[in-house]
Amino acid sequence: MQQNDCAVIIIGAGPCGLMLAIELGRRGIATIVLEEKASPARFPAANATQARTMEHYRRLGFAEKVRALGLPPDYPTDIAYFTRYAKHELARFSLPSSREARMMVKTLGGSWSAAELPHRVSQMFVEDVLRAEAAACATVSIRPGMRMVTLRDSGYGVEVDAEPSGGGARITLRATYAVGADGGGSPTRKALGFGYVGESGAVRDFMGGRMFAIHFRSPKLYDVIPHPRAWMYWAVNRDRRAFMATVNGRDQFNFHTQLKPGESVEQIDDAQAKMMFQKALAAPLDIEIIARSSWTAGYALVAEQFQRGHVLLGGDAAHLFTPAGGLGYNTAVEDAVNLGWKLAALLKGWGGPRLLDSYAIERQANARRNTSYARGFADSLGLFVPPEELEDDSAAGAAARQRTGDHFNYHARFEFNIPGITFGGRYDGSPIIVSDGTAPPPDKPNEYVPTACPGGRAPHLWLADGRSLYDTLGFEFTLLQLGSKPIDPAPWQAEARAIGLPLSVVANASEEARELYQSDLVLIRPDQIVAWRGGNSAQPDAVLRRAAGHF
Ligand SMILES: Cc1cc2nc3c(=O)[nH]c(=O)nc-3n(C[C@H](O)[C@H](O)[C@H](O)COP(=O)(O)OP(=O)(O)OC[C@H]3O[C@@H](n4cnc5c(N)ncnc54)[C@H](O)[C@@H]3O)c2cc1C
Repeated sequence: MQQNDCAVIIIGAGPCGLMLAIELGRRGIATIVLEEKASPARFPAANATQARTMEHYRRLGFAEKVRALGLPPDYPTDIAYFTRYAKHELARFSLPSSREARMMVKTLGGSWSAAELPHRVSQMFVEDVLRAEAAACATVSIRPGMRMVTLRDSGYGVEVDAEPSGGGARITLRATYAVGADGGGSPTRKALGFGYVGESGAVRDFMGGRMFAIHFRSPKLYDVIPHPRAWMYWAVNRDRRAFMATVNGRDQFNFHTQLKPGESVEQIDDAQAKMMFQKALAAPLDIEIIARSSWTAGYALVAEQFQRGHVLLGGDAAHLFTPAGGLGYNTAVEDAVNLGWKLAALLKGWGGPRLLDSYAIERQANARRNTSYARGFADSLGLFVPPEELEDDSAAGAAARQRTGDHFNYHARFEFNIPGITFGGRYDGSPIIVSDGTAPPPDKPNEYVPTACPGGRAPHLWLADGRSLYDTLGFEFTLLQLGSKPIDPAPWQAEARAIGLPLSVVANASEEARELYQSDLVLIRPDQIVAWRGGNSAQPDAVLRRAAGHF
């Protein structure tokens, strides 16, 4: 046995590492988070928090804090396409402001049957909330400015060597588990010797190549754009394709353009960066550059393995996306949600020997699914080559703009209306899911069919008192008793006690809930995934043991 400094060491305080720290911290697990940066990254990065991620933030009690960030409450989250921002508008997908989203979600059904709608906010703001929530957990210690140098599996656990990023003495920390949430360049993945598998280096007219980005300030930008406000602005032309997200709805924006052959990030000074933006805007405007960044579009990569011994991978360390569809950070958060309760269950003793295997089985399949959807979005966006006459002041130019607008009106709804992706991720075939023999609905990006078929998200329901069904579930496992004649939960509670599995029992007598779940009893996991559904004839011991990884 080794003397441990904590139970889990997380390498990297991005969205994945911080969310995992919250899941562990809320369960009282001693956790150290190593982060090589001394102070948080201040580049906006991701812009979209998907609805499922918002539902997890709601489960943890801070969805409202996140929804309050970013754009003003009445700012529309439209996605709009232009030849250049101050020239022709080509297409628009109108989407609600955060104030409208809060109200709309209570009235929507079908594909958008949900407790939360998506929220458009820069990743740097979300990370501030995640960091504060993680730091508020008594058992979580975040160590900024500490870089993981190397790690070893000792057989009993993990030894992690770390040193101050600014120089200083190296220390060794010991824990039962280590999780590499250390981003696309993941030193943890490299130390494990796992490569990425999939597509890299895709070349497209846009979203396939080296991208250059600036975060800038301009209080006058809206004055020179003669179109209604949007959240995301795309420039479609043959000269400088780009996208721009509004960061605060007032004076800060985040502009990304693809470098052309012969352009290199190192050679772009501020004057050239401003010129690139001018090309996409096509109107005179002075801007103040706050920060610059570069990244590569064209990845759809998944790590060969997600675990070896006591070391696991999550987030970009395990999968790398082209950000079309806005799935990288959201997939990273779901990794953390999946892994958090499982690690805690093992450390507390009620998780069985097969529980951790299910992490890679469930999340690797999901990563392949999501990277493949993102690649499809990038193709739809980036393989479209703007017609030569697109900007001409002629009948041919107008016709080209109409054709281009038709494409992007279709594309916007394909890429940005994705309830099927966000709610429809499934863990069919996972060893800890007990199938009832029913088949789930087909997996489609733009359509979600609520279903309690085991292996998917527990379908959502608003209760008569205005609460979400999710607000009534336990923090760990929940046994949902449905129908007007509830089945006695005592045998389930007795078996749960026998293996130490925390189980809440929640009754819902409504016909609507019984109809939605198509069953009298439903076992819902801590990550709100249906583990099993059935009736009186079930064997609670077999079901609970499988769901907890004892087999
Ligand atoms: C322009 C752009 C737009 C995007 N838009 C979206 C979007 O709208 N929606 C979406 O879902 N995703 C989007 N993404 C992707 C998203 O930003 C990433 O998927 C997300 O940051 C991944 O989170 P992570 O925690 O896995 O990794 P990261 O955010 O990369 O965090 C990893 C952390 O590990 C730290 N680290 C690395 N090595 C070490 C070490 N040796 N020791 C200690 N710490 C270390 C790093 O400093 C970093 O803080 C976008 C990305 C880009 C570039």
